[in-house]
Amino acid sequence: MSLTKEIQACRLCTDRFAQTATAHKPRPVVWFRPGARILIAGQAPGARVHASGKPFTDPSGDRLRDWLGLDEKGFYDQSQVAIVPMAFCFPGYNERKADLPPPPICGRTWHDRVMNALGDVPLTILVGGHAHKYHLGAQSPVTETVSRWRDHAPRVFALPHPSWRNTAWLKKNPWFETDLLPVLQQRVQEVLND
Ligand code: SF4
Repeated sequence: MSLTKEIQACRLCTDRFAQTATAHKPRPVVWFRPGARILIAGQAPGARVHASGKPFTDPSGDRLRDWLGLDEKGFYDQSQVAIVPMAFCFPGYNERKADLPPPPICGRTWHDRVMNALGDVPLTILVGGHAHKYHLGAQSPVTETVSRWRDHAPRVFALPHPSWRNTAWLKKNPWFETDLLPVLQQRVQEVLND
């Protein structure tokens, strides 16, 4: 069985998800192919992506595409862009309707195998603190990690999560849009046209 099919068949979190406020079943959203030029390392699917079965089909995805300077056609071209979150399934909500974090068992079970299958990817984009931790070993708060983006560019860019919850963060940190995004967008084009 291919790795993609193995992950799609994974039901390790059945009991965990049944105990969340959403009481949903696992639905792994798998979107990568070896040979991709860009890796988007995200957090976990949200409720809308759980329903669609396709990554970033939500306002976070609209904002991320905007940040990268990619339209939907480019963003969803699996020969160029791999999208690998820290958990492949929607983790669900708690009783207060807040998003639960990605279950660590997903990263432990699948991540090294996926990264080996992807091989050397010239541009990795880390979306949110969970991805910063896994891929950079970052222990610092998200703002600090993102503000030191030049330490990792041009191969790796650490971004905040594009969720609407970070709209205030974007206003407070205007350098993100004026300094980081133009360099990121240029790098995306370089890698895709190489
Ligand atoms: S989150 Fe990951 S480990 Fe859990 S069921 Fe989905 S694919 Fe499996």
